[in-house]
Amino acid sequence: MTTTIRTSLVEALASIVGSRFAGQVEDPSTLLDAAGPLSQPPRADAWVRPKTPGEVAGVLAWCYERGVAVTPRGGATGLSGGAVPLSGGVVIALDRLTRVGGVDHRRWLLDVGAGVTTAHVHRLARENGLNFPPDPGAAEQSQIGGNIATNAGGPHALKYGATRAWVTGIEAVLAPGELVRLGAPVRKDSSELDLKSLLVGSEGTLGIITGALVRLTPAPEERVGGLALFADARAGATAVGDLLASGVLPAAVEYFDAATLALVAATCPVELPTGTAFGLLIEVDGRAGEAAREWREVEDALAGSSSAVLRAGTAGELQRLWDWRHSFPGVVMTLRGGFRSGDVVVPVDQLADALQRTGEIGREYGLRTCSFGHGGDGNLHPAFMIDPRDAGEIERAHRAADALADMALELGGTVSGEHGIGSLKARFMARQCSPAVLRAQAAVRLALDPKLLLNPGKKVLPAPEARGDPIPSIAS
Ligand SMILES: Cc1cc2nc3c(=O)[nH]c(=O)nc-3n(C[C@H](O)[C@H](O)[C@H](O)COP(=O)(O)OP(=O)(O)OC[C@H]3O[C@@H](n4cnc5c(N)ncnc54)[C@H](O)[C@@H]3O)c2cc1C
Repeated sequence: MTTTIRTSLVEALASIVGSRFAGQVEDPSTLLDAAGPLSQPPRADAWVRPKTPGEVAGVLAWCYERGVAVTPRGGATGLSGGAVPLSGGVVIALDRLTRVGGVDHRRWLLDVGAGVTTAHVHRLARENGLNFPPDPGAAEQSQIGGNIATNAGGPHALKYGATRAWVTGIEAVLAPGELVRLGAPVRKDSSELDLKSLLVGSEGTLGIITGALVRLTPAPEERVGGLALFADARAGATAVGDLLASGVLPAAVEYFDAATLALVAATCPVELPTGTAFGLLIEVDGRAGEAAREWREVEDALAGSSSAVLRAGTAGELQRLWDWRHSFPGVVMTLRGGFRSGDVVVPVDQLADALQRTGEIGREYGLRTCSFGHGGDGNLHPAFMIDPRDAGEIERAHRAADALADMALELGGTVSGEHGIGSLKARFMARQCSPAVLRAQAAVRLALDPKLLLNPGKKVLPAPEARGDPIPSIAS
């Protein structure tokens, strides 16, 4: 884009949102997301921060008419490069869409703008004695719009499901600039083709979410949890599937392997028995009395396989275990300065094999690797550690991620459990989906965005001839 065109683009955006909230992109490197330098280099001409759905519609209508690409950006905590603009054009930041419509107690619903942070949604629910279960790890930064766009999960997705299960209505702007409301404040609906669910997990390719009506549920009266520890990794990973097969459904079953423990054992709030090679952080919840009974069932189910099951004695102790668990990504980050996070998901009875093969992949590509994640969901988050300045190491991490994707597909899983596809995993889609399924997905994208201007180069890539300008991929 020439300087003159860029100037007129910014002037047009400023006329919609006000001059303080639109500008030229001076330094594209500020537009990375939490995947950091693993993404392709950002390329954008202008940024805009609308305050209302009407302003979002104005921006999209203007861009659509002139063929300008638009990349939506929430809290930029995504780990797949989804919010990173690749094709120039406009980055539309949704952080000013912070309207809070209030909690509807009779219907257990909360009406919020897309830019409200996940943590604030949790606070609003809690203040009203209710619960919003989806709990992705970077909740103070991530936004509800970003959570919906990625169908975010988190530890409690095991019992409660990922974000999709908690969205009953979406307000969005479609590519040509039309504001639409999808869904209704009802508990069931078999009327329309379900465009609302289609937008969940669409990563900004089908429309820009401006608000949502999310479901809440009564907060559990009691939570009980603790650590289950194993001297043998395979026994520990197998125990996860056995636990669920025994008929217990914990709220969360988080796993961590020996390589993770080597990094975080020193900060563990409880002393770990020597020889611990695998661990689970397990939580059960329910009405008073129910959770304690369920915890006893957990202890019984794990008695034969674990070396110890340590129950947190108080709510404070359980919270310290969760704080410890949430510290893992930060600790891993300090080791070499970066890591490529995997997010594959396999059937839970394949967890042991998946973990063993993850270790083999790390060794094959010469990358220090550890793995922790949502064991009950079979959702692995291996961290392939990299020095962000080392291009060779970054390349090896991409190849390890390729091998990880193949492994998950071989075991009957998928290439992403909750982080989404973004640009980093777009090439995996052709391995996961048959040509007919790929064509159908590309057709949906083209139907809603005929000029392919929304988040180009992400998620499902329509055929090059439909796409126009080809987007370079990281590695073939
Ligand atoms: C430390 C850490 C822990 C994490 N733990 C988890 C976890 O446990 N579970 C989990 O699921 N994820 C986790 N994540 C990943 C990330 O937090 C989630 O993917 C989150 O949902 C992204 O939200 P965001 O607002 O930051 O979105 P962004 O990163 O800004 O964007 C993500 C995608 O959504 C699109 N998008 C954003 N907002 C909108 C909108 N309003 N309309 C349309 N499209 C939009 C973007 O274009 C992009 O494609 C973690 C990340 C970090 C850094």
